[in-house]
Amino acid sequence: MSKIIEPLRGVHDVLPAQIPAWQFLERTARDVFAAYGYEEFRVPIIEQTPLFKRSIGDFTDIVEKEMFSFVDRGEDHITLRPEATAGIARAVISNGLLRESRLKVWCMGPMFRRERPQAGRYRQFHQIDCEAFGFEGPDVDAEMILLSARLLRSLGLTRVKLLINSLGTPAARAAYRERLIEYFTAHEAALDEDSRRRLQGNPLRILDSKHPQTQRLVAGAPQLLESLDAESRAHFAALCGHLDAAGIAYHVEPHLVRGLDYYTRTVFEWTTDLLGAQSTVCAGGRYDGLIAQLGGTPTPGIGWAMGQERIVLLLEAQGVAAPRERPHLYLVLAGERAEREGLRLAETLRDALPGLKLQVNLGGGSFKTQFKRADRSGAAYAAILGDEEAARGVVALKDLRGEAPQEECPVERIGERLGVLFGL
Ligand code: ATP
Ligand code: MG
Repeated sequence: MSKIIEPLRGVHDVLPAQIPAWQFLERTARDVFAAYGYEEFRVPIIEQTPLFKRSIGDFTDIVEKEMFSFVDRGEDHITLRPEATAGIARAVISNGLLRESRLKVWCMGPMFRRERPQAGRYRQFHQIDCEAFGFEGPDVDAEMILLSARLLRSLGLTRVKLLINSLGTPAARAAYRERLIEYFTAHEAALDEDSRRRLQGNPLRILDSKHPQTQRLVAGAPQLLESLDAESRAHFAALCGHLDAAGIAYHVEPHLVRGLDYYTRTVFEWTTDLLGAQSTVCAGGRYDGLIAQLGGTPTPGIGWAMGQERIVLLLEAQGVAAPRERPHLYLVLAGERAEREGLRLAETLRDALPGLKLQVNLGGGSFKTQFKRADRSGAAYAAILGDEEAARGVVALKDLRGEAPQEECPVERIGERLGVLFGL
């Protein structure tokens, strides 16, 4: 016997039993995006490696150590996308989409990061992603956050908390950078290795460190909000005003930064206390410099990404049961003639009743076996066609979940009867 091939580390199958939660999340997201006028955008999973280096930044976890990159037959430098924003920004520029109008888009799909796998952290994971280009805000900043709030609410997720902060303009950040270097240099011995390496290159990233000792240092670090430029301060105040007016609770978190370099001004995260260390379920912010950084006409942008695996874990942790697809009817076939006629009867019923979810018993089996399968399928009713029923031109209908008495129905009337039973 040959050896079983295991999946790659940190890469998971989504099993049929888990699909209802995923579909619930994705369906809800589609509906919410439609409610705000965001259009779907599908961008490639592979891109040229320099795209991510240039946009995400060299001193980031992603670019330093998490990208799945390879050289394709000695020619193209390719990376599996670790996030969606860079690819969308590239696509917006490549397709000239900003020449005429502004753009509000969303995207959904797999992302790849070579991380140490643990609960809520995988090497292939999925994100729901939302981006807007050409809006200076702060109204769009607020709308994006309200949209994410509505999505979480529509999913029934209540154990989440909104954190916001402002990173100001590049100039304000540059000044802040110097103050941070000064502060952390004074405490250099207490920094973890990664943070020490980033001290000169990108000290803001130290604020995002997950190292406990470094986190304690961060608590005493200078805050960017204190020295924000006047325009960024006004932008942030207006955002807070919109959130207050909408009745959305938030916490200003002065040390909140994002793991990617391209953010300016507004940054935010939704976190939960139910998922241990992997507590951020959605994160985003404004990236006004990104399009220009990638060679496009300077255009403001803002976006967020939600980790689908973490949302599914949170649905479970909060006991939200996703609605499961159940067949209306399971067709039990007993006897040779019934088996011969079963598939055709099922087709006739599906023709007659669009929307009917019908499973036919395949591969025979005793009555008992077939009823067990019918029960496991979740079907509301079993339709029973035996040779004797087939000869008389009738089908028996049995309620599998309730108390309704078994009934018999002429084949030519069964579509009508099922329509009434299931409201189709
Ligand atoms: P973290 O700090 O947890 O590493 P991040 O800052 O790297 O997160 P983002 O790049 O902002 O994450 O991605 C947005 C969201 O995608 C995260 O908040 C999280 O929900 C999800 N996410 C990121 N990386 C992973 C991963 N490796 N596995 C599962 N979900 C992830
Ligand atoms: Mg990360």
